[in-house]
Amino acid sequence: MRRKIVAGNWKMNGNRQVAQDLAVGVSNIADSLESSVEVIVSPPYIFMADVISHIASSVNVSSQDVSSNDNGAFTGEISADMLAEFGCTYSIVGHSERRAMFGDTDDVVAAKVAKCIEKNIHPIVCVGETLEERESGKTLEVVGDQLRRALQNLDEAGLEKVIVAYEPVWAIGTGKTATPEQAQEVHEFIRGEIAVINEVVSLKTPIIYGGSVNAENAKSLFAMADIDGGLIGGASLKLEEFEVICKAI
Ligand code: PGA
Repeated sequence: MRRKIVAGNWKMNGNRQVAQDLAVGVSNIADSLESSVEVIVSPPYIFMADVISHIASSVNVSSQDVSSNDNGAFTGEISADMLAEFGCTYSIVGHSERRAMFGDTDDVVAAKVAKCIEKNIHPIVCVGETLEERESGKTLEVVGDQLRRALQNLDEAGLEKVIVAYEPVWAIGTGKTATPEQAQEVHEFIRGEIAVINEVVSLKTPIIYGGSVNAENAKSLFAMADIDGGLIGGASLKLEEFEVICKAI
């Protein structure tokens, strides 16, 4: 059986108190779930130490990004070593907001994924097409290309640490969700692409869906064969809704 994962991506939201309150609230939710469900929170860097000191051991902490470089003269960056020192065990890599607004090209994403693996941080690798790409029938081509380039150079042990998040750009923060069937088609494709690299690992790789997941649609998405959970943005800031989503898995 594959791991089931619900990850909350808080993005650049909240303040110190909100982050602490969410950490305590998510801990209570995680403690009430079956142990087969893994809950992850991804706070802004500056709240990470606070969140880690308020969070239960049943919740894992992720960063929203990571530097591809080791410690050195890289103003404004945070290294994987720094994250690991604080107990952060995951990092989102290649989120579409970073790809679109902060210059995270496929090569940058690949370097960040490789750095995570080197430093024993599990990368949550985001891939997804824009509306224009979907409408011109290029979804699988775009997603396949992003995926292959992000995972290039990983050996089997590295590939085993990867979580993939399929996040259609047109569904992020828009209230438009991919239908369970649309998402399943891409998830199945992603698993097939990973199988080309390593079939055994592909059967174990968690592939989670992100893009306007909410209390209403979570259950039908999570019911699909290749959807192993969700990467939740807006709804992860509302504890009651996040709880419903966690319990939908
Ligand atoms: P959303 O964001 O749930 O607010 O659409 C998801 C994400 O960007 O990870």
